[in-house]
Amino acid sequence: MTPSSRQNRPDAGWNFENSYARLPEAFHVRLNPVPVRTPKLVVFNGALAQFLGLNPDALKGDEGAAVFSGNRIPEGAEPLAQAYAGHQFGYFTMLGDGRAIVLGEQVTPKGERFDIQYKGSGKTPFSRQGDGRAALGPMLREYIISEALHALGIPTTRSLAVVTTGEQVFRETALQGAILTRAAASHIRVGTFEYAAAMVKANGIRTLADYTIHRHFPDLAVDGNPYLALLGAVMERQASLVARWLLVGFIHGVMNTDNMALCGETIDYGPCAFMDAYDPDTVFSSIDHNGRYAYGRQPQIAQWNLARFAETLLPIIHEDPQEVLNQEADDSALVEDLLDCMHRHGADFTNTFRDLASGSLPEASVFRALDFKQWFERWQARLKRQPDSWEASRRLMHTHNPAVIPRNHRVEEALEAAVERADFKVMEKLLGSLSQPYQDPPEQAGYHLPPPPSAQPYRTFCGT
Ligand code: AMP
Ligand code: MG
Repeated sequence: MTPSSRQNRPDAGWNFENSYARLPEAFHVRLNPVPVRTPKLVVFNGALAQFLGLNPDALKGDEGAAVFSGNRIPEGAEPLAQAYAGHQFGYFTMLGDGRAIVLGEQVTPKGERFDIQYKGSGKTPFSRQGDGRAALGPMLREYIISEALHALGIPTTRSLAVVTTGEQVFRETALQGAILTRAAASHIRVGTFEYAAAMVKANGIRTLADYTIHRHFPDLAVDGNPYLALLGAVMERQASLVARWLLVGFIHGVMNTDNMALCGETIDYGPCAFMDAYDPDTVFSSIDHNGRYAYGRQPQIAQWNLARFAETLLPIIHEDPQEVLNQEADDSALVEDLLDCMHRHGADFTNTFRDLASGSLPEASVFRALDFKQWFERWQARLKRQPDSWEASRRLMHTHNPAVIPRNHRVEEALEAAVERADFKVMEKLLGSLSQPYQDPPEQAGYHLPPPPSAQPYRTFCGT
């Protein structure tokens, strides 16, 4: 590049550090994304860019297309594919980034550190049979759902950009290729520790644990038993994360240990979806035949995954971590009975909680059922014993029970417009309503409405 062409390009604001690249070689493979033919920037998250310390104006056009396709590597980045393992549907496998590249860690103006990762950026040594690529629909889907979770206040990786590659990817049919750029507090997973335990042994585990503590839990470095404290802290974040998922009816869909980030963010949006009618056995994923990752099983699975994490730490903890893992559940009968009632009547999950915050017996037809009415009376009696005012309870409900979630039929509608007709307006409008999920949306937009009855159960697909 000549000095003058550098001058013509406004500074994009990249500020990379590459601490993960400094870990022992076993943890990663250094390589660049595979260039693509004709990249086009189709979605760009200006607000997130600004938060990251990037200059949206510098990244909107061709520069964004070049950078977010991996065709141009920003200065200071040291791209790599991470090595990891994982239990997939209960079975241990060696994995690694088969279609992702971590560019580096963007340090924001506030000094926070985020992995910038491309998904769909070409083959790596971990690609196995895969082509290293991703299709436009699923990348837009991750963009919508992850940004919706963020607006709901749930820890998540975020989506910065989607580019189309101008190349086709072949699944059951030929599809438009795309790359998603996402930002994450880190991509250290339970599976990264499983990999270290299997491949690098005790020294590797200690190195990785120290790195994780330094990056995510710096206060624990001075703890008398920092690795046991790490287990406790990771457990707390996971418990809190899964509780937040349950609260809004989110089903991750593929809670393999390689998809559980130690920083406590939701990662890897494959077959995830939101539940409409309440049923704890709800499964959307086409590959989850036994309902292992059903809505209501998520707490158990998180605990199972944490047990795999605890096992990797055993050689450096010297204490029985089982004590930390067993938590008392304080489920109240009132909650259980409401959920049973909702299940019996196929009540809409989101709208039921939202309706209850109205204070009087809600109008919706399910509330006319006798068991609902009886439950409502019990709840009213319980509220009277509450030291806080009804107003305080109502406010709490309104700030925890969203009015708008990315309903499956709305997400599909947005994806169809974008993928089939290159019309991104439907998605933009949807993203707009999802950005303020705790406010009642305008009635006429209908974003709060459950889907019309359908003969087909909703199905989601993994890794496409
Ligand atoms: P996921 O279900 O997205 O978490 O992916 C599980 C594993 O499969 C990870 O190691 C991915 O990198 C890998 N993978 C998924 N899709 C592809 C693909 N198209 N090409 C190569 N590797 C892939
Ligand atoms: Mg994954």
